[in-house]
Amino acid sequence: MAVEPAASASSIHALRQAAALDTGIPWPLAQGETLAFTASLQRRLLEDEDRLPSGDDRDPEFLTARVPFSLPACGLALNDVFARMEEVLRLTPSSASRRFVNQLFGGREPVAVAAESLALWRNPSMYTFKAAGAQVLVENAVLAHMRRHAGFDAGEGLFVPGGSLANLAALLLARDRAAPEAREHGLARHLAVYASSESHYSLSKNAGIAGLGRQAFRAVPVDRDGRMDVGALERRIEQDRQQDLRPAMIVATAGTTVRGAFDDIARVARVARSSGAWLHVDGALGASLLLSPRHRHLLRGVEQADSLAWNPHKLMGIPLQSAALLLARRGGLARSFDERADYLFQADDDAFNPGHRSLQCGRRADAFKLWAAWLHLGDDGWAARVDRQLLLAARAAELIAADAELELCEAPMSVNVCFRATGCAAEEVCERLDRAGRLKIGFGDFRGDRVLRLVCVNPALTDHDLRMILAEVRSVAREIRAAPPGRIGRPAAARAS
Ligand SMILES: *Cc1c(COP(=O)(O)O)cnc(C)c1O
Repeated sequence: MAVEPAASASSIHALRQAAALDTGIPWPLAQGETLAFTASLQRRLLEDEDRLPSGDDRDPEFLTARVPFSLPACGLALNDVFARMEEVLRLTPSSASRRFVNQLFGGREPVAVAAESLALWRNPSMYTFKAAGAQVLVENAVLAHMRRHAGFDAGEGLFVPGGSLANLAALLLARDRAAPEAREHGLARHLAVYASSESHYSLSKNAGIAGLGRQAFRAVPVDRDGRMDVGALERRIEQDRQQDLRPAMIVATAGTTVRGAFDDIARVARVARSSGAWLHVDGALGASLLLSPRHRHLLRGVEQADSLAWNPHKLMGIPLQSAALLLARRGGLARSFDERADYLFQADDDAFNPGHRSLQCGRRADAFKLWAAWLHLGDDGWAARVDRQLLLAARAAELIAADAELELCEAPMSVNVCFRATGCAAEEVCERLDRAGRLKIGFGDFRGDRVLRLVCVNPALTDHDLRMILAEVRSVAREIRAAPPGRIGRPAAARAS
């Protein structure tokens, strides 16, 4: 396994001693050897994928004491570096594990992983065509294709580092439309943002960042199915108007974080039109359902929105980060984000220099991995993938409903399945499963109650895996009922002290 490093710690020492350019020692050090290490390490990590860290390996203090995280003054030999990397990676959970159902991402598209790692050997930055070349055209092609799925054919778009920032960019565009003075002089009027009480936390955070103030965020109540109550939205806007507060943006969530619910976009769009507010659809989770002819009706009305956030790093299995903001019309991005920078923008038409339309300066080529996976799967493959994810959720719900020790909260609206382990606190179930390295599963609020949330986002799961996952929950629930918290185990607070 060990490859003898060409440039060892001692040759680095020689290099320093020589303090000259022509020492005969090549720079960068160890490029070829690094490639050899990578291939074998990748294979070993894949073989180990379903093993999650457990017990003391789950304890930050234990890990801090055990793994030498600190950096040395003198460089280590390459095989020592790789051994250290392997150790840390083995203590890093794999989100492609069959036992990882904790978050709204999981599983992987291997072609996308390959594209991601290969792109690093070019390491372009997406501000100019001069620095990124064909990657700019890749991004344009991917964005145009995604826009067609959303019904934004004449619009524009941008890859951003995550749905939170897609929501932020949308809010800045909405702010600048509602308050054209804001970008140049700061906000001179009071604006408000509306979204359901089950919307993502980034919306309130972004209201703070964008200068509206977190107090400008309005959490509109939801109906029993977790969808924004549109009547309550209208009443709140009217009430705010009387206080001289203008609605800058209404956010319809397509796929809420806990329940996977879809707001009625078409109805919310009517309110946005009559109130003059920007309509943003937060589809970080659910926009991928546009790819399925069977399920895209859940986003009915999306083509009437001004913008859409869509995270391929969630339902599409693209490695983080891959998130796009799509706009129905052109021009807004440059109006809100363009700056002059003669040292950067020196060649080519602005249309091919995305830095004019970006929140960032340096930017990764995040479209490339999605493009590669899309080449392989095609629209048909994505439809089949999404349908499979929803089928998994429906199947999990069926298994839960038939289980005397589990309680299904509601029929799943997309990939999220909310349920209870009868007689057990959801937090306790999650904590014990995690510490034992058996399952990473999370909890959330369902109508004011803490419940388990199983996310069926990894299409590699099978009926057998779902049974395994539920069996783990059942078995830990039995343990809890036999020995409730306080009688065994160390509670989280005690561990931290
Ligand atoms: C995940 C999620 C976000 C945030 O996306 P990141 O890529 O994690 O920043 C925003 N909104 C919704 C509805 C989400 O599910």
